[in-house]
Amino acid sequence: MATADGHGTDSTVPARGGPGERPLAPSRKFNSGHWVGFSTRERPVRTAFLSDIHSNWPALEAVLEDLGGLPEVEQVICLGDVVGYGADPVRCLDHVRGSGWPTLVGNHDRACTDAAVLGWFNADAASAIRWTIEQLDGERLGWLRDLPERSERGGALLVHGSPRDPIYEYILDPYTALENLQLVGERLCFHGHTHVPGVFHVEQEDLAHDYDLGAIELRAPALVNPGSVGQPRDGDPDASYGLWDPEHGTFEFRRIPYDRDRAKRAIIEAGLPGRLAARLDFGR
Ligand code: ZN
Repeated sequence: MATADGHGTDSTVPARGGPGERPLAPSRKFNSGHWVGFSTRERPVRTAFLSDIHSNWPALEAVLEDLGGLPEVEQVICLGDVVGYGADPVRCLDHVRGSGWPTLVGNHDRACTDAAVLGWFNADAASAIRWTIEQLDGERLGWLRDLPERSERGGALLVHGSPRDPIYEYILDPYTALENLQLVGERLCFHGHTHVPGVFHVEQEDLAHDYDLGAIELRAPALVNPGSVGQPRDGDPDASYGLWDPEHGTFEFRRIPYDRDRAKRAIIEAGLPGRLAARLDFGR
């Protein structure tokens, strides 16, 4: 999964040679060395983007069932935070890993293998990570540790957080979005982390944020967030994910109801904080 594909560990994204392409975040050095974790493809293909699964197996299962009815989808990419918060880390991790989906590292994934990162977490999130670590064997923790911080597919940049700070930055406000848009050149960037689905892009010199169920038009540069499978935070409790159709230049947001009671029960039975169960009903 995390094999280097020849782009090495430079702190800038490999030059693609197109006009207007700028290197990313030249001032920042990353220490993991995982810039590109899987090879790029020449032909962009219809791709499902899943992010922030957060150990919520009933939600992931419902999304997989929905995906099963979409034979036109040629690949699935996971934008990170496979674990954390929820009660099914092993089942979720094993599915993502076993499917061979290109997967980015999220902050919760990283906190499982880096105590300093865990130290930044609030009490509920941290206790869920400590519990998660107890559920995972060394091999699974090793898989999390080796996930790449950023990659590219079909000419698009992939990160969990933001182009500037691939694991940790939240793109929630227009100012942060604009600063990051300036780093992606003429490309699309797919990211997660905020658990809020939508597309940030510049329209007639103003920053716009679009979200609608169904397909919306994508014009690069844009920051595209499919929302969260396992813990949506836009007020809609249904699992969120999206489909990129590079040929038609669209992104389709999809919301999938799932058995929330099952996910909540599992959280309570695991002895995790009750608030992590309750918030699933509110989509916050
Ligand atoms: Zn997350």
